[in-house]
Amino acid sequence: MMARERLKKLILEEINGILPRLIELSDWMAMHPELGSEEYEASRRLSEELERHGFKVERGILNMPTAFRASYSGVGPSPKIAFMAEYDALPEIGHGCGHNIIGTAAIGAGIALRRVLDEVSGTVFVYGTPAEEGRGPSAGAKRRMAEAGLFNDLDTAMMIHPTSGVTRVNEGFLAVTGITVEFRGRAAHAAAFPHLGVNALNAAVLMYMAVHANRQQLRRDANAVIHGVIKEGGVASNIIPDRAVLQFGVRSSDDSYIPELVEMVKNCARGAALATGCEVHIEVKPGLKSNVRNEPLERLLYRVFRELGEEVEPPEITARRIPMASTDFSDVTHVVPGIHSMVSIAPEGVALHTREFAEATMTERGHKAIEIGAKAMALAALELLLSPKLLKEVKEAHRRAIAKLS
Ligand SMILES: [Zn+2]
Ligand SMILES: [Zn+2]
Repeated sequence: MMARERLKKLILEEINGILPRLIELSDWMAMHPELGSEEYEASRRLSEELERHGFKVERGILNMPTAFRASYSGVGPSPKIAFMAEYDALPEIGHGCGHNIIGTAAIGAGIALRRVLDEVSGTVFVYGTPAEEGRGPSAGAKRRMAEAGLFNDLDTAMMIHPTSGVTRVNEGFLAVTGITVEFRGRAAHAAAFPHLGVNALNAAVLMYMAVHANRQQLRRDANAVIHGVIKEGGVASNIIPDRAVLQFGVRSSDDSYIPELVEMVKNCARGAALATGCEVHIEVKPGLKSNVRNEPLERLLYRVFRELGEEVEPPEITARRIPMASTDFSDVTHVVPGIHSMVSIAPEGVALHTREFAEATMTERGHKAIEIGAKAMALAALELLLSPKLLKEVKEAHRRAIAKLS
């Protein structure tokens, strides 16, 4: 008992000590936002900070230039705990998803946990996972890392994400798949020679409305969402458009429903192509899964957040919330037990993906979230290192949840 309290104190002291540096890094990122797959400077600064604290860092893993894996092993190699860092920003609105807080809380947790590993067996990893918002060649970085087997021998993976409203230990996330549709027609003078044209915009509009007509018949129990835009629909009104491009996303809390939704969207595209005489090219992007929740981990984080004085929603209340968004962390939770806590930085109603939310990351409360997030993850990890019984419970809950899926 005494040893546990002393180790907890070490972790808290370490985070208090590096907090000014973490805040400086987070604010720097907020003021210098980098888009997904181009987060060179953020990735460099975060990974160098880990190096300065004794971590071994491998950069550019899986051919993703802004990804990294940092690790530190203590007196023994196991258990293996990973903290996930994100650092990509959004076009126009900068860090409107607060990934500057995710990145700095993750390295803070890693550096703090490293402090106890000279006495306690275990390895701590900090994964630098770029392009969470899906932009560029490194999009879906965590899914790619999961598929490549990087997480296979981990015992637990954790991350925090800033949010508005109340702090929650976890949340449900939707599976998502992106679909791009390109219609090819034939250009012609829109007034003089319309009979020589094949109108790709007409195909796009028909397809858009056909998808819309299917919305009412979606499964309500599966939290299905379909969103789409017409990206390109012609260049001038006096030319029959020869090219139109649409982008859709289909989401559901039921992974097995996604192929059906994708097929429906494809049929709408094929129907519109047939009706207008256009050619159609459909590209289905590799999707993300819905997340696997872990009750023992949720209870652990709930206890730790409360110990830190953070007001937090009881996990059983959170479990009744409707899943709203998607993350590539969900794919990690299909391989290892994982938890994605949502730490409040703004009052209810401040939406994520806004400039207002980006500003909130630089407020006192935003800075507090880095501290609370890093401390909660490091303390929860310490509990897992010190209690084989708890770790076994976490892993068994994961095994049961995965078995239920198949
Ligand atoms: Zn986001
Ligand atoms: Zn985000």
